[in-house]
Amino acid sequence: MNAPALLKSGLTALMSVLFPEKCVVCGRTLVSGEHLICLHCNVAMPRTRYHLSRFNHMHERLMGDAHVERAASWFHYKRKSPYTNIILQAKYYDRPRVAADAAAMFAAEIQPDGFFDGIDIILPVPMHPFKELRRGYNQAEILAHGLSRVTGLPVGDNLRARHGHKSQTRRGAYDRYVNVAGLFDVADAGELTGKHLLIVDDVMTTGSTVLACCEAVRRSVPDATISVLTLASATLD
Ligand SMILES: [Zn+2]
Repeated sequence: MNAPALLKSGLTALMSVLFPEKCVVCGRTLVSGEHLICLHCNVAMPRTRYHLSRFNHMHERLMGDAHVERAASWFHYKRKSPYTNIILQAKYYDRPRVAADAAAMFAAEIQPDGFFDGIDIILPVPMHPFKELRRGYNQAEILAHGLSRVTGLPVGDNLRARHGHKSQTRRGAYDRYVNVAGLFDVADAGELTGKHLLIVDDVMTTGSTVLACCEAVRRSVPDATISVLTLASATLD
């Protein structure tokens, strides 16, 4: 090991003593070899494994004018589950790195099953610019870059928000749909013609936001193939 590398590994070791990395889910201090999530929480994670079935609960929610080819989500999102921390830490505690690392872990898990085969470009669900300005980043875009880190796929910015849509919290399924329908469009349709696109968002609840993106793509680029990935998926019950 040369001197700078030695210094760097020494500093990393020192930092981990001074500021030990904690499991995002349960808060326990991570041990060597663990990253983001401790082994216990990783094994116990309520994985959806949706990517293994050709027609899953996400496809069901995304039934509309646009056909969805593949759909994947890492874990089931339940309101009181500690796994929601993976989303909330990134979203509300200003830790975008959590989102990127979580997406990279998920990508590494499903890549061997061929989920990314044939996909050309990753398109994050856009956020209204004013909201992005307030938060400083778009969570879906951070996720997209985490996926890209593992898959090597490019991240596009071709999906655009047309108007500010109000917060989705505390709205019924129909209200949510009406709230987002027609709110996205494609900036440069030519760039996406004939391509297989992966639309990415953090959580799918009713699916209305992702569906609105799928329909925007279908309107402008009818020959594109659409797949969808979210980090978590809420069970509708
Ligand atoms: Zn844990």
